This record gives sequence, structure tokens and C-alpha cells, in this order.
Amino acid sequence: MRVIIIGCGFAGLKLARNLVNKENIEVLIIDKNNYHQFQPLFYQVATSGLDASNISFPLRKIFQKARNVRFRLTSLLEIKQAENKIVTTIGAFDYDVLVLATGATTNFFGNEKLQENALPMKSTVEALQLRNHIIKNFENALLATSKQERELYMTFVIVGGGPTGVELSGAIAEMRKYILPKDYPELDFSEMKIILVEGSPKTLAVMSEQSSEKSRKYLTGLGVTVETKTTVKEYDGTTAVLSTGETIQTTTLLWAAGIKGNVPAGIEASLIVKGNRIQVDRYNKVEGTENMYAIGDIACMETPQYPHGHPQLANVAINQGKNLAANLIHQVNGNKHLQAEFEYHDKGTMATVGRNLAVVDIPIPKPKLHFGGWFAWLIWMSLHLMLILGVKNRVQIFINWLYKYFTYDQNLRLLIRTAFREEDEVK
Ligand SMILES: Cc1cc2nc3c(=O)[nH]c(=O)nc-3n(C[C@H](O)[C@H](O)[C@H](O)COP(=O)(O)OP(=O)(O)OC[C@H]3O[C@@H](n4cnc5c(N)ncnc54)[C@H](O)[C@@H]3O)c2cc1C
Repeated sequence: MRVIIIGCGFAGLKLARNLVNKENIEVLIIDKNNYHQFQPLFYQVATSGLDASNISFPLRKIFQKARNVRFRLTSLLEIKQAENKIVTTIGAFDYDVLVLATGATTNFFGNEKLQENALPMKSTVEALQLRNHIIKNFENALLATSKQERELYMTFVIVGGGPTGVELSGAIAEMRKYILPKDYPELDFSEMKIILVEGSPKTLAVMSEQSSEKSRKYLTGLGVTVETKTTVKEYDGTTAVLSTGETIQTTTLLWAAGIKGNVPAGIEASLIVKGNRIQVDRYNKVEGTENMYAIGDIACMETPQYPHGHPQLANVAINQGKNLAANLIHQVNGNKHLQAEFEYHDKGTMATVGRNLAVVDIPIPKPKLHFGGWFAWLIWMSLHLMLILGVKNRVQIFINWLYKYFTYDQNLRLLIRTAFREEDEVK
């Protein structure tokens, strides 16, 4: 069975790992990056807390001992379903089974101006670009000739009050509290504003009422202005126009307000549902096909428990990868009757706001157990450390976090650009 997996994020990686050295199965992984990215910690890269290499892992290293796994660094261009073939930037490949695990990308909901000017955070590269942008802002603020101009650089608007927006806002607020005044003693940080804009009535709307309220309280305590029931209508690079009519002058608008599936060409339009996800059955098989599957963020599977599809979370992606691997192994061994439907068992949700501040919801015992503060933060850290790939990465992140905890500092505030250009020095 020739299995091609497109995308080696959480879902594709789990699937490939569970197929390693399985008899009669050959795996070809296609990814446009040669590393796996741990997206939940992008915000720490963006705020100089972690080095990008700490949350990335080279794919070839993971499969060094796999006799049946190959990897090609390329992008999928098109699926030719009728021919069981995919077309990539380096040529075409035949498959018996095709698995789409291409994840999702930032959704600007068709607003081109926003897309042009807002800063997304959906890849390691974007997280690094954000880090550069944040640092460059303060260098520019030093050179500003008026208070108005300085405010442009020292105002941060974060759009989207989900976990990413909340984590980013909290981390920037902590930079303002502990680090930036030491780095830039010439600037007055009472002038720095951090504004979190959220369309729904609360932050962390997907979590429990208690956790939502706590997250808002923590953010406010850190000096973040939280504007709920508000959306950003326009942004041209310096002026953000809110749905309330208010305008904010800023060079930094971080967009964490939505994602859409990375659907490749060659998928029938009728199979693409809300959120640009591909409709799959309970075995992750793409509806109406015999040998094409979709797993992770790109897949939309309706189950009695999740009638609108599963939440786009790492844990769902990992478990779909695991379930599909088991089903493919059964198929190749002639045990199709042993194949199992997928169901997600939510073990809990969590988000961190900052030092000693996090919220955790655990679905058992019913009603849900909720807690926040230091203990929740400790659980958040331990779980993320456990999930990070590679012992070296784990140790490095742990040391980084320890260092930061005791020194209230982090030393990754490097402005690394592709090439030094004179014009970069001119604002
Ligand atoms: C900032 C941020 C924070 C998050 N925090 C959390 C969290 O705290 N907890 C949680 O559970 N989830 C979190 N998530 C969501 C979680 O990361 C996703 O649910 C998860 O990554 C989905 O896994 P996936 O395998 O479907 O896709 P991904 O992990 O996105 O992987 C997709 C892969 O496909 C590759 N790819 C895409 N298109 C192509 C193409 N055309 N050709 C070749 N390769 C391609 C990409 O390079 C990538 O490697 C967060 C996401 C973000 C962005």
C-alpha cells in the first residue's frame, strides 16, 4: 500500500509515526517545510521567549530509523483523483491511499486591506517576523519626533480573543512590565497600549464561563484593554477602524481572529464545508471517495457529540492520525472489519495569560472542573513540555522558562533580518 501523506503537522506526523516499519506499507511524506512546527508556542517565539528552533523539529531526524518512510520537501499543487496521482512542484507521485493533513491558514475573511497590513501568526516564519516587527517598533519609537508618532509604534492591537490572542496579549503585557523599560530606558512605557479586540462578548469563548471571566480579569490586571463585542473593520497599516466607529493609530495589528482550511486543488467544491474544511466520514475518508482521507484541522467530521465538526486542536489532529493509522494497518492485513470510527474524547482545555496565570477546564467530574492561577499555569507548562518533540528541545525550553521565571528576563530579543539593507534603517 503506497500511502502519501500531505503535511507533517500534528495529524500527519502521528499517522506517519504509527505506520513506521509496518509490513506492506510504504509512506511518502510531502511537506513544504522540512520540520514539524509546534504551533501552540508560536506566541513565545513572537515575544522573544523561545528560539524558533526550540519548537521545530527536523522531519528527516524523526524518521531516521524508518525503513518504509520517505520525505520530499515540496508543495502539493493538485490532486488528480481519477488517476490516483498528485502533482507537486517537483513532479507527480502515484498513490494507493492519499491522506490530506494540510492544516489551516489565517482567515482574513476576504478583507484584502487587512490581509496586506495585519500580522498573522500561523507559521514559524510568521512568528519570527512578528518578533522582528515588535522589536523594530521600539527602535522606531526612540526616533519618533512627536508623541503622536511614538504612540503609533507603542500601540499594539491584537484581534481575536481566543487562546492565541489572549496568550499574545498577556506575553506582550509582560514584556512591557518586566523587560522593555530596562531595554529602552529613554521611553515612557505608560504610553504603551495593548488592546485586545474580540467580536463575541467574552475572551476564551470556547472555554467555560469561569475561565473566560478569569482570563479577562488576568488580562485587565496586566494592563491590557479588552474590547469585546467589537470587530476590526479596516486597517491600512497605521489606522485601525473598529465596528464601534473608534479608530486606533498603530503600526501593529496582530491578527488571531480566524483560520480556514488549506484545501488543495482537485477537491470537489461540494465537499468543502464551513471554515474551508473537507467533509469526511467517521473513518476520516473524504465523502464520495474510496482512497482519499483528510485528518486534523482540514477535516470536518460530524459526530453526535460534535455535530458541526471537531474543534481545530492539536489533540484532535493527533488522535485522528492515530485512528487512521490503525485502520490502514487493519486494511492492509485484510482485517477491514476491525476498522474503528473516530470519536474525540475531550480531556480538557487550557490557556495561559502570563506568569502564574492560566486557566484550565477539565470535563470530568461533571459538571466541569475549572481552576486558574499558579496551579493551572504549572499544568499548562508541564503538558506543553511533554508534547514538545525532542529531548534537547524539552531541556532547552525548560531551562529558558526557569531562567525567565527567576530573572524576569529573556534574552532572545534579536532582530534577525535576511540581509542588512541601508533602507531598513530608514523608517
Ligand atoms: C498560534 C497557534 C496556537 C495554537 N495553540 C493551540 C493549543 O494551545 N492547543 C491546541 O490543541 N491547539 C492549538 N493550536 C491548533 C493546533 O496547532 C492545530 O489544531 C494543529 O496544528 C492541527 O494539526 P494539523 O496536522 O491538522 O495541521 P498543521 O499542524 O497545521 O500541519 C499542516 C502541515 O501541512 C503542511 N502543508 C500545508 N499545505 C501544504 C501543501 N500545499 N503542500 C505541502 N505541505 C503543506 C504544513 O507545512 C504543515 O507542516 C494552535 C494553533 C496556532 C496557529
